[in-house]
Amino acid sequence: MTRGGRRPVIAIDGPAGAGKSTLARNLARRLRLLYVDTGAMYRAVARHALDRGVAADDAAALAGLMDDLDLRLEPKPNGRYRVLVNGRDVTGRLRDRDVTRAVALVSQVPAVREKLVQIQRHLARGGGVVLDGRDIGTRVLPDADFKFFVTASLEERAARRYRQLRRRGQAASLEEVLAEVRERDEADMNRAVSPLRKAEDAVVIDTTGITVEEALRRVLAIIEARRGGQAPPAQSGGPA
Ligand code: C5P
Repeated sequence: MTRGGRRPVIAIDGPAGAGKSTLARNLARRLRLLYVDTGAMYRAVARHALDRGVAADDAAALAGLMDDLDLRLEPKPNGRYRVLVNGRDVTGRLRDRDVTRAVALVSQVPAVREKLVQIQRHLARGGGVVLDGRDIGTRVLPDADFKFFVTASLEERAARRYRQLRRRGQAASLEEVLAEVRERDEADMNRAVSPLRKAEDAVVIDTTGITVEEALRRVLAIIEARRGGQAPPAQSGGPA
């Protein structure tokens, strides 16, 4: 598909609630690539730390946890997957609010980032992947074939998170969610290690006011144009 037949590596970065994961999952399904949600990996580490009673800002204890971390993503046929930490399925608890609050701190710890970046590069080594996160185009895969920076207004991103939490039966006011999203933006953009930044060669996709389908259409159009008008393969049931 790209570079002498190698399957493409696609990097998607952006702030919380911009619609990255939905876009990345749909794109992977459409192009029959493996989807890797790196936010879920940081959340899994935060979940693991909380379960073990390790404070989210205790860098030394977190580094210790990384020594025997066995993190696995097991793809399911619907394009989603189970996340296992040392054999334990934590998938259903990755979006809990205690995890969401802890993850911005956990992800600042260099030992945590080193470990996860290593796993992410390993997953991408043969091509055929879509990775989404905060530092994929800038640090994890600077040579990715395609880079997108997905964003939306703060209000729209907060409203999406709010609806997500409501669907999951978790009580929170829109104001609280807005404050949390703003705080996470600040933390992700201003941290010392791998802050959230648009890679210079990334294409910005602003999802404010557009549908999930429209966002996918725009990204596919860019990929097709760069490949010289080659049509993407027909829709498939799940990741490769
Ligand atoms: O994408 P999601 O909101 O699930 O990510 C959760 C958190 O994980 C982010 O707020 C960020 O602190 C961290 N993260 C990161 N680098 C990535 C992906 C996520 O630091 N590549």
